[in-house]
Amino acid sequence: MPIRQIKLDQGKGELPKVVESDNVSIKPRKKIDNKGNKTFHQAGTTYSDKLLDERARMLLSKEGAIKWIDKGLFAVQSQSGVGRYRVEWNGNKWICNCPYYTKNNKDCKHVLAVQYYLLGYVTIKGKELEEKKVTYSRDWSAYNYAQMEEHDLFGHILNELISTIEESEQHMGRPRLKLRDLIFCCIDKIYNKTSCRGAKHLFHEALRKQYISHAPHCNALSKTLLKPEITPILHDLIHLSSLPFVGIEDGNFAIDSTGFCCSSFGAYCEHAHGTKRMHNWVKVHVCIGVRSKIITDVIITDEYKADSPQFKKLLLNTSKFFTIKEVSADPAYSSRKNHEIVDKLGGIAYIPFKKNATGKACGSALWNKAFHYFQLHREDFDRHYHKRSNVEATFHSVKSKLLENLKSKNRVAQENEMLCKIIAYNITVLIRSMVQMGITPDFFTNVGVRNVISTKTN
Ligand SMILES: [Zn+2]
Repeated sequence: MPIRQIKLDQGKGELPKVVESDNVSIKPRKKIDNKGNKTFHQAGTTYSDKLLDERARMLLSKEGAIKWIDKGLFAVQSQSGVGRYRVEWNGNKWICNCPYYTKNNKDCKHVLAVQYYLLGYVTIKGKELEEKKVTYSRDWSAYNYAQMEEHDLFGHILNELISTIEESEQHMGRPRLKLRDLIFCCIDKIYNKTSCRGAKHLFHEALRKQYISHAPHCNALSKTLLKPEITPILHDLIHLSSLPFVGIEDGNFAIDSTGFCCSSFGAYCEHAHGTKRMHNWVKVHVCIGVRSKIITDVIITDEYKADSPQFKKLLLNTSKFFTIKEVSADPAYSSRKNHEIVDKLGGIAYIPFKKNATGKACGSALWNKAFHYFQLHREDFDRHYHKRSNVEATFHSVKSKLLENLKSKNRVAQENEMLCKIIAYNITVLIRSMVQMGITPDFFTNVGVRNVISTKTN
């Protein structure tokens, strides 16, 4: 069966669907090898076609050479085995960022390999090949590597990230501890889930690896977290840590909020003292990239602050670096203003309407349009809205990895501690992506952002 007969059929914004012209059976992916599997044999018309096909099949036979990153996105190992190319479905055809594709603008071995790979995922139903429900089997070797090396890589990446902070010069007085060192230690301590006092060995290790120039005393860390001046710096670091994903995120973002518990009164206090003392909470509003689950922006408020007004700021900050195509959020964010802001940024909002909502425009024709789309095309709507579940997964990941309570008592320190937590989380996402997608973060190339980041403290 000539492979060229198979064309990848595509509806708007849909996953690539493989359509077959004849009713032929295709063997499952596992059976593919380069020992001349007849099903995948390609009688190429020219020599170069044949060569490409052969190379694609060679790639396919290598274990882990093709990685399914997301719907319509693959990372394919280069033939030399060094680095990966990005093969992406652009809604129309597969594109690759390898030199061959860029030069000739025609299917390269990486694209072919992905097409073969996909065929392994499809089953036959009459004349149409249907996409099988994909269970994402974890790439265990990459996962194990990421987990085992995470600790070492964490220090390394954090060091790179922190080195973008410009230290203000000191001309007089006793030499101060470097702000970089202090912030490094705060984040390192939070990542390792220890108290200030218990983190001494971490700082000595950081000193040995020359990530910091001086190991600070535990009191210095508590004092650092109390400084309101470091809050904007931490926000900048969050933005910076999300930037390696600008090329990877495809415009889908999700917004939500969750609570982090500050001090644990509660059951014991009630039992011991007979008084009911409530926990206090901080509310964390985030915007995440759906594909990588990287946090692109965060706002921290008191527990009673409403969700909806934060939407605009989160999205505007994200849009400074990312292109916005779709934004999903729960009904708490349903408002005319929020629909308008997404539209203004060139995207579509997928926010369910509240039960009592009406389609009355009240000055917003967009609201009326969205309301009718929601009512009439519910299935379609839900498919887009489903992407919101990624933000829940992100919260779960932050809480299980880095604990769901905050140790600080002071409100400013709580906010700074929370921001450090988010930075630590973003770095772990970066590590996972480095291993799985082969991306290399280079914070220094983002010069524009780097200039923004300068210490305002003295
Ligand atoms: Zn290619």
